[in-house]
Amino acid sequence: MQTVKIGETSLPAIGIGTWHMGDHASQANEEVRAIQAALDHGVQVIDTAEMYGNGRAEQIVGRAIQGQKREQLYIIDKVLPNNASHGRLEQSLDRSLRTVGTDYFDLYLLHWRGGVPLAETVTELERMVNKGKIRAWGVSNFDVADLEELWQLPHGTNCVANEDLYNLDERGIEYDLLPLMRKHHLPLIAYSPLSQADTISGKLTTNPLLKDLAASHHVSVYQIMLAWTLRNGNTLSIPKAGTVQHALDNMQALEITFSTDELEALTKQFPRPTSKQPLAVL
Ligand code: NAP
Repeated sequence: MQTVKIGETSLPAIGIGTWHMGDHASQANEEVRAIQAALDHGVQVIDTAEMYGNGRAEQIVGRAIQGQKREQLYIIDKVLPNNASHGRLEQSLDRSLRTVGTDYFDLYLLHWRGGVPLAETVTELERMVNKGKIRAWGVSNFDVADLEELWQLPHGTNCVANEDLYNLDERGIEYDLLPLMRKHHLPLIAYSPLSQADTISGKLTTNPLLKDLAASHHVSVYQIMLAWTLRNGNTLSIPKAGTVQHALDNMQALEITFSTDELEALTKQFPRPTSKQPLAVL
């Protein structure tokens, strides 16, 4: 099974995302079961955020983790940029902890950069680590210049991960951001690794090479897409699965490995960037 190290913690390289969970009351029970199925089959990471449905996704997470051993879970939550200030971050964090029903988050991310000075946010995040409310902190939607600025700040290098959009259709960060992160041993948390079930470009599920690879590995195109995001190590992929079947299918991607020829063929179809790309965000 592929693993990834975030800070000092070694984790299975696939977690479960929760954006849009809790949006429809009729789907909530199945979403809770999907998270539980993932946890029962070895997933440790649950990725959520105060933004998702204004706390509704956090509520689903709270239901799903009842009765689970807390120390076996790795819960990631995110603070909105407007709340990432001296006056508001702790309040936001306390609200999220209450909603999820836990005493601490394993990782707390700045969801994206906003108007609050980065130095102020880092000071608050460090204070929360010292209070024991979070075990570690990181960032999301950061590009090269953002990380370089962060690393200049006092305690800035305590950042343990950067969560960015990454999938076969969105390889822009391979040009400069991923090499920089690798050099600094900063893992990537790859969001939307399934390109939102290929609803963004629609180019993936119909691609003949992806279909062939799926057939030869006896898996689905989605499992191929997920496994591809993990091919270099140093990446945690967090597909959202709102059904038990999808949650179980996604776990199987941990067992898929590609030959060099297969990876080269994928790169021919979905080329690496050859120049700096604007950071893709959702
Ligand atoms: P995604 O994971 O790329 O795609 C989710 C979609 O794929 C859902 O429609 C899901 O359907 C479907 N799906 C999942 N597993 C499948 C499978 N095995 N076969 C077929 N379809 C499958 O998109 P995402 O939700 O945007 O990204 C994942 C997570 O990353 C989010 O949930 C969130 O936690 C995080 N995220 C973070 C940021 C950020 O700014 N930090 C931004 C976007 C996302 P069902 O729901 O029916 O299973």
